[in-house]
Amino acid sequence: MAARAATETRRNRGFPQASRPWDGLKAAMLAAREGDKPWCHERSFTAAYFAGDDVLRCAHEAYDAYRDENGLFAKGAYPSLAACERELIAGVLDLLHAPDDAGGSTTAGGTESILMAMKAARDWAREHRPAAGVPEVVVPKTAHAAFDKGAEWLGMRIVRMARSQGWRADVAGMAAAIGENTVMIAGSAPPYPYGETDPIGEIAQLAQAHDLWMHSDGCIGGMILPFMRALGDAVPPFDFAVPGVTSMSVDMHKFGYAHKGISLCLLRDKALERYHRTIFEGWPAGTYSTPTITGTRSGGGVASAWAVMTHLGEEGYLRIHEVQRGIRERLIAGIEAIEGLAVLGHPHALHVTFYADGFDIFAVEEGMAARGWRSIRMREPDSILLWLNMKHADSIDAYLADLAEVAADVRSGGLTAAQRGASNYAT
Ligand SMILES: *Cc1c(COP(=O)(O)O)cnc(C)c1O
Repeated sequence: MAARAATETRRNRGFPQASRPWDGLKAAMLAAREGDKPWCHERSFTAAYFAGDDVLRCAHEAYDAYRDENGLFAKGAYPSLAACERELIAGVLDLLHAPDDAGGSTTAGGTESILMAMKAARDWAREHRPAAGVPEVVVPKTAHAAFDKGAEWLGMRIVRMARSQGWRADVAGMAAAIGENTVMIAGSAPPYPYGETDPIGEIAQLAQAHDLWMHSDGCIGGMILPFMRALGDAVPPFDFAVPGVTSMSVDMHKFGYAHKGISLCLLRDKALERYHRTIFEGWPAGTYSTPTITGTRSGGGVASAWAVMTHLGEEGYLRIHEVQRGIRERLIAGIEAIEGLAVLGHPHALHVTFYADGFDIFAVEEGMAARGWRSIRMREPDSILLWLNMKHADSIDAYLADLAEVAADVRSGGLTAAQRGASNYAT
């Protein structure tokens, strides 16, 4: 039998031989999951984006409604999905002060959004300001690793600053790093490791002076900062209101509260999209033309982001962010009130980093972990990073009470760290 021959040559090290009914298999799968950490919990400050059960339900049900539709065929076969995509992009462009002829694409995540902006910058520069050597991208110390991934794939070189200036981008260092091969410059609003937004206005001025592509990475802040500003925070300019910002990345699967798998790569001028689009005409199956990396993809991501945006509206995002801003301010005041602990910079979004002066912050992290609090360990400086969400409204005071006790134990020498080093993001 042909089927038997296909397996006889293999060593049977993992591909299932027999069929198994889904019901029993499902029970086994869910049982195996019991040892996992919950993705979102009031005692966990790892990156979980939770805005309330009603929002989660909207994100899930909208995803489910379109999960089997292939986003690759939206324009031809699923005009309702294509309309969701247009409205989603137009809505977020509006929120971020983009001009009328702005445009954008939906991607699978922030990494893909950044890669598309980098490809566009590279191919735009080939036409407008050709680099003699390898095209370079100048980024702050804290820029996301996606820039390095993009540079590897796109044959570019990252020039990353060795230090920050008061927890923000070292703009003078970036100016000095611009050379004849520089094609792109970037800043983060705000960066993942430190919560303070880079001086996007100053970086964009540099871009204009040197005729560079400028990317403002709003993967985190794109869906937070406009609302924090409306709530009264002094948020520095970071979006298309800043002349010289060419592109932005905004993760709808972070603080847009959509199901995972959806981000936006936004352009000040929609005509720039041709620099990251790939068009292949010579295929027997027809013309293949896409602006992003993915081909086949679920329609769920777009539907989910559109639904949450439309369900919440500005009113809803303001309501949620007002609560979370209150949690953040209570947390900052509480940390600052503990002897020897200090918050790093001025957190503009919903993550807060703090360090210890004169004692070991990783011993504090371990002491808190022993009490059931999960957080992220950071280096440069050694510090604790906390991501806030709506689950923390009722737990932040308990966290602070435990933190005061644990910090006192570490300060007095009663607690030491078993492990060194920052958290690991390896997959
Ligand atoms: C999360 C993040 C990215 C990358 O996004 P993914 O969705 O994880 O691919 C890029 N920049 C910043 C600032 C981020 O926080």
